[in-house]
Amino acid sequence: MRKKDLPSSGNSGLGEDLVNSFRLQFNMYFGLVVLTLLGPYVVNHFIKGRFAMGLFTGCILFISGTNSLSIYRRRVQLIPFGYFYAVIMATLISGLFLQGESIIYWYYPFVLIVLASATRMQARIMLIISAATLIPAAFYTIEFAVAARFSATYIMVCLLGYLVVGLIDKAQQQQATLAITDPLTGALNRRTMLIHIEEAAEACRRGLGTASLLTIDIDHFKNINDSYGHSAGDDALTSVVDIIIQRKRKLDKLFRTGGEEFIMLARDLDADGSLAFADSLRAAVAEGEILDGKPITVSIGVANYDSGENIDDWIRRADDHMYLAKRHGRNCISPPYIASVPAVEQKEKA
Ligand code: GH3
Ligand code: MG
Ligand code: MG
Repeated sequence: MRKKDLPSSGNSGLGEDLVNSFRLQFNMYFGLVVLTLLGPYVVNHFIKGRFAMGLFTGCILFISGTNSLSIYRRRVQLIPFGYFYAVIMATLISGLFLQGESIIYWYYPFVLIVLASATRMQARIMLIISAATLIPAAFYTIEFAVAARFSATYIMVCLLGYLVVGLIDKAQQQQATLAITDPLTGALNRRTMLIHIEEAAEACRRGLGTASLLTIDIDHFKNINDSYGHSAGDDALTSVVDIIIQRKRKLDKLFRTGGEEFIMLARDLDADGSLAFADSLRAAVAEGEILDGKPITVSIGVANYDSGENIDDWIRRADDHMYLAKRHGRNCISPPYIASVPAVEQKEKA
């Protein structure tokens, strides 16, 4: 499984979207669980005159309830997890001093909450801080033997929980990667392409930059398979993709749309810029040393988004231009690109 044109880490990755969606879902249900389980404790604390504990637990209830409701209604977590973490930590530490060792039973679900709600980096820092403060507090307030047993089991739960969640995260990322990429070349797949192209068209309609489609088709690829075999053909295909991906900018996306056909979605290039970009890709493939001595070339059709056009028409225009390039003899782009000659050179020529 190659990873050439995957969305770089950041919020745009499909894997991360899935993980974030899981976190939101967790926090919504978690709020409901907390309301049912902690509600009676809050009441009990106040009845028994333990106002500080009642207040702390009430805060936990309020934050998780508010978040649960805002996730249910608007899919956003209103109060950031950092605040929630600080309140729970304050409750757990003061609970040790006010209530004694019975509070440590609540430390274990706290680890689960951190692992499920925070990002991996945040969880690592939060768990280290929690161990570094809760363990000394336990030794200070409760019997040594109990504190020692608590410390060992708490660290074990933190480490194992962190490892297990890491493995689940990784599996989730792999699943997401499989869903959006072509396994042979590492380019993005066709299904993903339609989402990105629709997004780009919508941005153009709203006046947020420009977008161009470049349909790229390898010339006489059948001959390559016939002469060198299918496996060498596969290698040549992946080499062409490598060359193209090396030359694209981070914001451009390459999709495999068929056997030896690809579409590049290029953003924020003017008409001349997209043609120059297409021609640079064409030249790079033609100059690339892919098959010993036998040049591989591509034909590229370029279509810049026309305001109001639907995406099927836009893709069709890029395809039509690619077929024009084939008819013009291959190893060329369409519409034809004439590199602009610098003004000084033009003067000299005149
Ligand atoms: P043209 O210049 O007109 O595009 O000629 P062409 O031979 O490239 O075009 P055509 O569409 O006739 O052939 C495409 C060939 O690509 C047919 C098929 O054997 C080959 N092909 C498609 N997918 C793969 C693949 O994944 N691996 C390999 N090795 N070959 C593939
Ligand atoms: Mg071809
Ligand atoms: Mg083809």
